[in-house]
Amino acid sequence: MVPGIHRPAAVYVDLGAIKHNIKEELKHLEPGQQLFAVLKANAYGHGAVKIAQVAIKEGVSGFCVAILDEALELRQAGIKAPILVLGVTPTEYAPLAAEQDLSLTVPDLDWLKEAESKLAAATAKPLKIHLAVDSGMNRVGFNEDQTFLAANDFLLNNAHFEVEGMYTHFASADSSDDSYFNNQVERFEHFKKLLKLSPKWIHADNTAASVYNKKVTSDLVRFGIGLYGLNPSSNPAKPDLPMNVKLKPALSFESELVQVHVIPRGQGVGYGSTYIADSDQFIGTVPIGYADGFVRKFQGFEIKVGSEYCPIVGRICMDQLMVRLPYRMSVKTKVILIAKDASAPNNIKAAADYVDSIHYEVACLLDDRLPRIYYNE
Ligand SMILES: *Cc1c(COP(=O)(O)O)cnc(C)c1O
Repeated sequence: MVPGIHRPAAVYVDLGAIKHNIKEELKHLEPGQQLFAVLKANAYGHGAVKIAQVAIKEGVSGFCVAILDEALELRQAGIKAPILVLGVTPTEYAPLAAEQDLSLTVPDLDWLKEAESKLAAATAKPLKIHLAVDSGMNRVGFNEDQTFLAANDFLLNNAHFEVEGMYTHFASADSSDDSYFNNQVERFEHFKKLLKLSPKWIHADNTAASVYNKKVTSDLVRFGIGLYGLNPSSNPAKPDLPMNVKLKPALSFESELVQVHVIPRGQGVGYGSTYIADSDQFIGTVPIGYADGFVRKFQGFEIKVGSEYCPIVGRICMDQLMVRLPYRMSVKTKVILIAKDASAPNNIKAAADYVDSIHYEVACLLDDRLPRIYYNE
């Protein structure tokens, strides 16, 4: 996909905020803990390569991504730090990962055996691996003693692998009720006792576990949403849990009016005429649509045009949307669809609540047609 550089629309990323968030989180780490920045899904929509470059300068120890291609993108950009792929990578790519010094997640014993034969056939370098333990998320990882022990035996003195880590992932670290979380910690502790290997990093913390000071030991923090300055709490029905780290959001989504219409009472706006003007009105057109990842559910959401908050009227089109203006505004008036400032009515959390979603999803849906513009580097 080509980024639309000849259209007045972009995702703006405040690198000063990203640097601030890393500094604050580094100060918050427990003694001996290290920070891994999670850059999956193009750094939650913020642009993975740029965020990686900034993060390295600020002192993060490594990165996590979801898929092998995201790791390769970082290596191609010259990032030399450890990179862990969190998803399950098909074993035929184990030699490629080894060649590029990337660390892969081990979901189970079958995966390990298959990967070993691929590595042997390719006479590849040893592959760095992290054993995933499924302590209650029920997504990826070992969940029975027997296979976990067998994997340990399989890996003892196995020259094809370097066991760099072991980790688990929490299902509800962003909840004020710790019961499920504590069960997961207990389960993880149980698997730690079964270990016959000594990986460098045994880790469990995501942003939530770290910034809410949850009780768990973790050699690294896999810092995702917090890197982007957002509170991991994602329940719109409840207030956010207070974070013990002062973070600053980095992202805003901005455009301009490209046309302003005066329409008489009784006219409809957009496909299906779902909005009918009940008076003579000013309607502005913004060159953003659902194809940019700004979903149709945003119909009715109030975005900032000039200094006014204006409702999106009519259905959001693929590439355009219309807003009702309180008075005649000129073409090129600035439009802020998602504001960076957490206190703005159209901040990303408010936007996510409006479409019954979470800010993670709103950010990473903003697609490659939108250029990323960086400032405060
Ligand atoms: C996405 C992810 C993280 C980061 O989570 P945040 O809530 O964004 O901090 C950490 N670990 C795993 C396994 C993940 O998939």
